[in-house]
Amino acid sequence: MAKHKTHYEDCDILVVGGGMAGTGATFEARHWGRDLKIICVEKANIDRSGAVAQGLYAINCYMGMQWGENQPEDHVRYARNDLMGMVREDLGYDMARHVDSTVHMFDEWGLPMMKNEETGRYLREGKWQIMIHGESYKPIVAEAAKKSADKIYNRIMITHLLMDEAQENRVGGAVGFNMRTGDFHVFRAKTVIVAAGGASHIFKPRAVGEGMGRTWYAPWSNGSAYALPIAAGAKMTQMENRIVLCRFKDGYGPVGAYFLHLKTYTQNANGENYEKKWYDQTKELVGEYIDHHPTPTCLRNHAFIQETIAGGGPIHMVTTEAFQDPHLETVGWENFLGMTVGQAVVWASQNIDPKYTNPELTTSEPYVMGSHATCSGAWVSGPEDLSPPEYFWGYNRMLTVEGLFGAGDTVGGSAHKFSSGSFTEGRLAAKAAVKYIEDQKAEDIKVTDKQCEDFKEKVYKPLENYTVGSNEITGGTVSPSYISPIQGLLRLQRIMDEYVGGIATNYMTNGNMLKRGLELLEWLQEDLEKVGAEDYHQLMRAWELKHRALTSQCVTEHTMFREETRWPGYYYRGDHMKLDDDNWHCLTVSRRDPKTGKFNMEKVPVYHIVDDKEKKKAS
Ligand SMILES: Cc1cc2nc3c(=O)[nH]c(=O)nc-3n(C[C@H](O)[C@H](O)[C@H](O)COP(=O)(O)OP(=O)(O)OC[C@H]3O[C@@H](n4cnc5c(N)ncnc54)[C@H](O)[C@@H]3O)c2cc1C
Repeated sequence: MAKHKTHYEDCDILVVGGGMAGTGATFEARHWGRDLKIICVEKANIDRSGAVAQGLYAINCYMGMQWGENQPEDHVRYARNDLMGMVREDLGYDMARHVDSTVHMFDEWGLPMMKNEETGRYLREGKWQIMIHGESYKPIVAEAAKKSADKIYNRIMITHLLMDEAQENRVGGAVGFNMRTGDFHVFRAKTVIVAAGGASHIFKPRAVGEGMGRTWYAPWSNGSAYALPIAAGAKMTQMENRIVLCRFKDGYGPVGAYFLHLKTYTQNANGENYEKKWYDQTKELVGEYIDHHPTPTCLRNHAFIQETIAGGGPIHMVTTEAFQDPHLETVGWENFLGMTVGQAVVWASQNIDPKYTNPELTTSEPYVMGSHATCSGAWVSGPEDLSPPEYFWGYNRMLTVEGLFGAGDTVGGSAHKFSSGSFTEGRLAAKAAVKYIEDQKAEDIKVTDKQCEDFKEKVYKPLENYTVGSNEITGGTVSPSYISPIQGLLRLQRIMDEYVGGIATNYMTNGNMLKRGLELLEWLQEDLEKVGAEDYHQLMRAWELKHRALTSQCVTEHTMFREETRWPGYYYRGDHMKLDDDNWHCLTVSRRDPKTGKFNMEKVPVYHIVDDKEKKKAS
């Protein structure tokens, strides 16, 4: 262990993850905390890290309040409808009322925004989306963070949160290791803002073997945003609410601009509008939710999945009409350039020119996210002026662990934030973290060397497992004494795929399958004590896997708890196929006891704040 040098850093605000939410948090922390010491720690390099690494073609959350285009209330209604009623409206409203100011800063910082030539306003792709030339989106926001932080640490993976030993349930910082030098890093901090993105690769992906890694969601997002707080005993919410995306087949290229701007549409292999065919069947399952406008994303997936099971596939996007217009054809192609250039390469390799051939669509494997069209994540306090008592405990975006904040994919209950909303939520969390410090809530935190040393031993254990176990290799990479990170990952993905509602079962699961899944996950986690890493890169893979496994366990516990099918098209509980508003019009909240490892589940009321307020005003 002495081989790995330990570095200590004391700071006021530690931001874990320098993606959209993390850069927003780092920037805003400096605004409110001029004299505070602010550190941002990133697993990759913040210039090109996180889900926005490749760039984006649209900012998906912009109200346009300066032009009266939308109000925060409208966005709350939109997100609530899309999530079949299940959102934290206080969090959604709070994000929506601030998001425009974030986008205006991006504009000032030089992000090329497309403009409507007639009105001079930002060019709309849809009601909420505005179009950008966004290849450099991430370097631009990274620059703001770099100018704000005392120090940015790249290439350090945070593996554990440190806890205060003087006061129970208060955070004390975090530890991790540098993937290039192998050094151990201890960050003792008064507050920690976790902004470590969502989770891909917990379910078996469609692309396996040579194509492994080609997932819709960023393959490097490994669920640290969930595993770090879960391990520290923080409460989580809506972890069953995984997301399945309908995207272009094999390349997972974005479809938003196609549907919204190019006005393309989908059809089955016979050229029929299959969505209509499934209306009555869907109504049986979810009642009047199918009549809502716009149709909730999961229900559109449902029609796609049912049509495919019934033999109506492949499903195509009709591009051949829109692509006859040279302007729309250009937009269609450019859409990939700033974001998913790989889709154009896939089409070229498959001889698809969308002007003449309608490309195929697919539904992805499930992912866990808190910022897109789902809202899995940590259970956080809302803002003082909006939140009912059950949703408020002192500081905006603070988890149920004191001094621990979250933003972006980390935070549960607030869907449809996307890139701009995640950055905004980072800003909100940072402002609250500064206030927490100013209120003297972070005094006399005690983190002993022993706590750090114990973590250090744990962190490097996979290297030791390998060093010892490699002497017993029987052939190739097979050793009776350890498993490699890739072996563990494949095993995790199969458990989730086959028992928890992945592609193998057309997203179907039930109580018995989940029970078995939980058993297998528990044994997997036991075996992960024996994971072996031959170098620092593999050590990162080992810790990514451990974080994925813990996240998966939480997802499975939540899926087991909610005895209904709330989001057909995201997953199905075969033993409770219908949406059940009488019993399940509520949020699910879990807490894993760090001492026993057991999860405790509860139902928490979902408050429809926006329309309640309006009703009160009217009466
Ligand atoms: C394919 C795709 C397309 C999208 N398209 C759009 C779009 O068109 N428009 C739009 O507005 N939004 C879009 N989004 C949504 C947007 O990208 C996310 O909402 C946003 O990036 C979430 O921000 P975040 O900070 O929570 O996560 P991220 O931006 O992913 O950042 C998480 C960061 O944490 C780091 N990290 C992870 N674990 C650790 C650890 N243990 N230690 C240290 N660092 C760690 C990661 O490396 C990463 O930099 C898209 C997302 C995806 C995946």
